[in-house]
Amino acid sequence: FNEYRTILVTGGAGFIGSNFIPFYLKNNSNVRIINLDKLTYAGNLDNLKEVANDSRHLFVQGDICNKELVNKIFEEYNIDGIVHFAAESHVDNSIEDPQNFIKTNIEGTFVLLEAARKYWMNSPFQVRKGMEHARFHHISTDEVFGSLGATGYFTEDSSYAPNSPYSASKASSDFLVRSYFHTYGLNVVTSNCSNNYGLKQHDEKLIPTIIRKALNEEEIPIYGNGSNIRDWLYVMDHCKGISKVFQKGRSGETYVLGGNNELSSLKISKEVCVILDNHVPKSKGSYLEQITFVSDRPGHDFRYAIDSSKIKNELGWFPKESLDSGLERTVSWYVDKYRKGRK
Ligand code: NAD
Repeated sequence: FNEYRTILVTGGAGFIGSNFIPFYLKNNSNVRIINLDKLTYAGNLDNLKEVANDSRHLFVQGDICNKELVNKIFEEYNIDGIVHFAAESHVDNSIEDPQNFIKTNIEGTFVLLEAARKYWMNSPFQVRKGMEHARFHHISTDEVFGSLGATGYFTEDSSYAPNSPYSASKASSDFLVRSYFHTYGLNVVTSNCSNNYGLKQHDEKLIPTIIRKALNEEEIPIYGNGSNIRDWLYVMDHCKGISKVFQKGRSGETYVLGGNNELSSLKISKEVCVILDNHVPKSKGSYLEQITFVSDRPGHDFRYAIDSSKIKNELGWFPKESLDSGLERTVSWYVDKYRKGRK
């Protein structure tokens, strides 16, 4: 699948998309990317400075739910690949107000699938001439599988049991993507990954919040008793995995990607505080003293963990970044950002 010409990346001004685009352009000289992003509160064009002068990156501000716009992009640019990141992504927001999650995550995915069907297929299982390689890659989350107990791992065969409006909306979109493979023969792949961390993540998320609150000498809020466990995947490892699945994954298949870094929210907060203590020590005491427990998130899943054997065996992908070095790099980037007052 190395012959992609024009890939539509959705949500490319967000955290993962904006790490993916420069990486993918650098490693694939034969592609150009149309980046369709609505620039919601979570999108930030500053995330794309590395490709600001790259003629192979074209930014279009717009909504994936806008069918006319999506169709126009397909026609104008002859899109023959999609990497679909755009989503409302913050669980807490989905609890406060789920509406946008239903709209963007479900309807938006539907609009993109319909455009792919219209421009890539003549009829079910009849691909248009010249579009044989065209592929739709759907980016999703391990949260669709619900919560694990103290043991076990999610695999591609885990059953779906989403517990938040966010994960339910992502689960719905996964099912839609799956159905377009089985019903129309559309060339789709889906990847479900664990919690990403790294540069350019929105301030609202856990690790940036810990760093920001620590530096502002505010309380660092941790849900419940801090025992909920997440698996942390460095965003660039994720981007490399996406690239493999997009180019070499088997059509109609799902791949789960994890970081092999299971940590409770209390433990990751402590790790971040210790890095901060070493690099930007307080005049007195430790950042650890700012950690405070707050009431738990409703429907809070206890544990996520991933067995990435399938992608390792089939595509040779495994996470390479150690948590120590990934966190060091992340903390240092945010310290610089918050110190300089960057957005
Ligand atoms: P993000 O919130 O940082 O970025 C989302 C981007 O999508 C933003 O730039 C936003 O402007 C854009 N967007 C939102 N609604 C849109 C719409 N209607 N039309 C066009 N653009 C729109 O999210 P992220 O963390 O980069 O996540 C990207 C994808 O990866 C999502 O699908 C998410 O479900 C999935 N995912 C994320 C993680 C994680 O830890 N961040 C883990 C697993 C899966």
